[in-house]
Amino acid sequence: MFSNLLLNFLYLLFPVVVFLIFFENRPYSYSKKILVLLSAVAMSLCMIMPIRLEIGFFFDLRYIPFIIVALFGGYKNVIPLYVVLNILRFYVGGEGIFQSFLFSTAVLLIVPLFNKKFMKLSSKGRIITATVISFITMGCYLIMLSYIIDHFDWQIWILSINALTTNTVMMVILMMLIEKIITNIENRERIIQSDRLNVVSELAASVSHEIRNPLTVTNGFLQLLKKSNSLTEQEKRYIELSLQELERAEKIVSDYLSFAKPQTVNMVLSNMSTELEYTKSVIMPYASIHNVEVEFRFNNSLSTSYDRNQIQQCLINLYKNGIEAMREKGGGTLTIDISECKHNIMIRIQDTGIGMTKEEISRLGKPYYSTKEEGTGLGMLMIYSTINKVKGRIEVHSEKGEGTTFLLTIPASLNVS
Ligand code: ADP
Ligand code: MG
Repeated sequence: MFSNLLLNFLYLLFPVVVFLIFFENRPYSYSKKILVLLSAVAMSLCMIMPIRLEIGFFFDLRYIPFIIVALFGGYKNVIPLYVVLNILRFYVGGEGIFQSFLFSTAVLLIVPLFNKKFMKLSSKGRIITATVISFITMGCYLIMLSYIIDHFDWQIWILSINALTTNTVMMVILMMLIEKIITNIENRERIIQSDRLNVVSELAASVSHEIRNPLTVTNGFLQLLKKSNSLTEQEKRYIELSLQELERAEKIVSDYLSFAKPQTVNMVLSNMSTELEYTKSVIMPYASIHNVEVEFRFNNSLSTSYDRNQIQQCLINLYKNGIEAMREKGGGTLTIDISECKHNIMIRIQDTGIGMTKEEISRLGKPYYSTKEEGTGLGMLMIYSTINKVKGRIEVHSEKGEGTTFLLTIPASLNVS
């Protein structure tokens, strides 16, 4: 029986291993389909070769992949598993086909309800939730079974407890593995992102520096030329236009490329209230043009040290993105909330705009990724770079068509009262 158990464990490990080796780096939507397919295979293997206990009592771990997919993937992804499970159960035959059908339908209907809440939990929370759900499911299954079996005695009791323990332990192990893999993938993404930032910001720094000098020189000479008396009106106008264009070029350079190496460092130790006030005054006109209401909330006593200019620019970029996301919907509400939580400054910027898919979220912060015609795709890069510098974290929650929430968590300086 023990070797049988190990074999079943192997089936459950199969999707994890195959996924890690072959598919980990594929795009999100594609890898999701692969995972569902692999889970279906694992579930089928569990069902075809169940754990055989004494006195003809069978039990298998089919509900482990089923519940995991239901929790992580929701209704959409678990339905294929449900179909496979029932077709296979029909094919295997034997007693209790109808009960099994009813039971799996109940699980299909109930467990994916937790999908959204589940995905918001921490790693530990997810492990515990999945374990509890699998425990309850298996418990119900056994209770249901006890109604079918008429000669119910202590032997079956022991077997049931065995089954319940096995199922739960397997779930814990598997969930721990899955969560570890998720953490690893996230960490690697973070490292790649910070590498990318370094490369781009270095490039941006040198480019902005190289461009700024010739711009200044040209500007100077044009100013001189403008003062000449031998110029016709027409020529003066040309020079005026050239100067205007130069100014624009300079603005672009300073707006988008200066985040790399700040021209003027303005380090402060503060609680961001000044920044909120300043950025509020900057963004209000922009918001009202686009029919957006802005709500500000400030409730933070923690301080940290940061570059004032950069944080301001970063906040403005976030507001602008929010407002631009609502522009296409003809308006909405932008909520900006700065608060504190356990030695962290929390900045929440929430819009009711067009939102993003998971795929789009994963592309945020890649240089030049923009979905806007006039976009540069450098705003998010600047945001990531700035928050990276103050050792903060950025979480993005978004629902296509509903809106987006950016949550910045910045650790406070400890030695300040
Ligand atoms: P840009 O604003 O110039 O396009 P950003 O780096 O600021 O560049 O943003 C990159 C892309 O991220 C945007 O084009 C948009 O598709 C997406 N994005 C950023 N913030 C939001 C948001 N709040 N809601 C929806 N999409 C967003
Ligand atoms: Mg932007």
